[in-house]
This record gives sequence, structure tokens and C-alpha cells, in this order.
Amino acid sequence: MKIYFKYLAIVLFAFLVISVNGQDFDSKNISKDRTLKSKTAIAIHGGAGNIIKKSLSETEEQAYLAVLDSAVSLGHKLLENGVKGTDVVVEVIKILEDSPLFNAGKGSVFSNSGINEMDAAIMDGKNLKCGAVTNLTSIKNPIELAHCIMKKSKFIFLNGQGAEQFAKENNIKIVDPQYFFDKKRWEDYLKLKDSSKTSLDHDRGSIEYNISINKYGTVGCVVLDSDGNLAAGTSTGGITNKKYNRIGDSPLIGAGTYANNNTCAVSCTGRGEDFIKIVAAHQLHNYIEMKEMSIEDAAQKVIEEDLENVDGRGGLIAMDKNGKIIFKFNTKGMFRASFNTNGTKFIAIY
Ligand code: ASP
Repeated sequence: MKIYFKYLAIVLFAFLVISVNGQDFDSKNISKDRTLKSKTAIAIHGGAGNIIKKSLSETEEQAYLAVLDSAVSLGHKLLENGVKGTDVVVEVIKILEDSPLFNAGKGSVFSNSGINEMDAAIMDGKNLKCGAVTNLTSIKNPIELAHCIMKKSKFIFLNGQGAEQFAKENNIKIVDPQYFFDKKRWEDYLKLKDSSKTSLDHDRGSIEYNISINKYGTVGCVVLDSDGNLAAGTSTGGITNKKYNRIGDSPLIGAGTYANNNTCAVSCTGRGEDFIKIVAAHQLHNYIEMKEMSIEDAAQKVIEEDLENVDGRGGLIAMDKNGKIIFKFNTKGMFRASFNTNGTKFIAIY
């Protein structure tokens, strides 16, 4: 009988260890006493663009709202349980990457070569540690690889095959590239593949209006964790029909993604070339740090002046060190959701 209990105890212990290890964040990061030093907040986006009510059917709208809801709610729960900011960013972005609705991970758009080439970046505002990846074709969750680079590599930004080699060495989940195939994304690609045009989710003008709603959906997340640390992450398939291993702003630290505890955490979405020109995410940080602007004024300046000056279209989500959340875009809509420091949930598209 004694032996039976001993074995039962071992089995139970093993089960507990496996369940905790099955989660991708480190269990040590969960506060034992749940005394949180800081109020927490989270904001996410699923891309900005010419999204108007009539571009989505009722069913599509509900589907987008449901994924945004589950991602932001999971993030809020983890933060309230004391999970570290960057770990929360990874878990939240993984939900969006796993959904075919968004242009990241599973729903990524096709490049001119007829494959998915994915980019991602993550940054920890506490110490400026960051990790970034580009031109991935077989990593199930690009944000997970960016995070692993941030934690384990002396390098910051890895590309293509080299990044995938690093993934193998670090047991990051690799899938057959077929996993990323999405019929609607493929149809969008077929419409463009013989032209030199790219699908610009965010533009006014011609071709993009002929492409379905499926073009939207770079994803991003910014958080303030219970230790008072800011973190940001972004993940994308880029733009349909991109060529020559083009890289956008999303994985470029300072352009599409940035976090610094002194100022803000930011994730951008829009035509990457425009965000690179104005170094958008770091510019927001600069306005707050150097010009002592509020995050609201800084975001307005980045989107309504700097981005407009280069005829850019898109948006950003940002959070300051007090957990103030900003959604700013000069497009018709942006898939977005948040929990503020009072625990109030917000979800919107248009
Ligand atoms: N910024 C992304 C890129 O240019 C695309 C997007 O946000 O939709 O790659």
C-alpha cells in the first residue's frame, strides 16, 4: 500500500512538472503570493488598413472579435498572475499567429516566390534586450524564435536558414511550410504574382481595393507587467507579392517594434517602408524622452505628421510606463483590443 502511494505521488509530481513545462513561459516567473508591484495593462493589434464595416460579413467580424478577445484576455490573465512581460507578449502573439485570420504565422501572405516569409521581433523595456527574425519559412511561431534569440543568443537579428538552424538547436517548433498555406491568401497572391505590384494593406489607391479582407493582419502586443516592466512584440508575413527577400519594419528594432521602461512600448503596422523611413517606434520614444511629450501627443505626431509626410499609411499601439494605452492610425480601421490598468476590456475594429 505504502509503495502504491509512493508511486502515485511520483506520477502526480511528474504530471505537475510536465504541465508546467508544457507552458512556454518560465513557471518561476509566476508570483507565488500574487502580490503585484505594479498595475498591469495590455494592448494588441491585428493590423491596420482600409477596414470598413462593409468589408467584413457579420460572421467574419465575429470571428475577428473572438480571436482578439481570447488573445487579450489570456494576456490580461497572465499579467495578473505575475507572468513576466516578454513571456506574456509571446503567449498572446502565438494565439494571433495560430489564427489564419491574421497575417502572421498560420495566416501569412505569400511572397512573389509563392512561399510565406515571416518576420518577428520582441523587446524587453527593462534592459533593452531584444530578438528578431526575418525570412522564416518553417517556424510555427516566429515570435517564439525571436524570444529565444533574445534570451539565449549573443546576436539579436537572425535571417532565414541561419535563424532556422538556431531554432533547431533550441528545440523551437518547426513545421512543414505547407502548414502556412491559406486558400484566401493564395488567391490574393495569384491576383498579383505576375505584376510588379505588392498588396499594400494600408494604402489609398488602386490595387489593394481589389484584394480581399484577408490581406490585413500583422499582429502586435505591448504590455506593462506586474513588476512595472514594459515589453513589445510584432509578427508578420509582410506584404503580398514582396520580392528579393524584402524585409519590412516589423522585425527592425526601432522601426516597427520598441520598448524602453523610461518611455514606452510600441508595435507598428502599416507599409513597412514608410515606418522604416521615419524609424517610427523609436521616434515615439524620442518624442517622449527628448521632447517630454505625453504618449498621446507623441503618437499623434508620429502618425499624423511624420508618417503623413512620407505619405505613409498604418497605425501603432503604444503604452507608457503608467500603463496608458494609445491606439493611433490614419487608416479606416485597425483590429485592436486592450485591458487597461483598471481591468477594463476594450475591443474594436473600425
Ligand atoms: N508592417 C508590415 C510590413 O511592412 C506589414 C503590415 O503591418 O501589415 O512588413
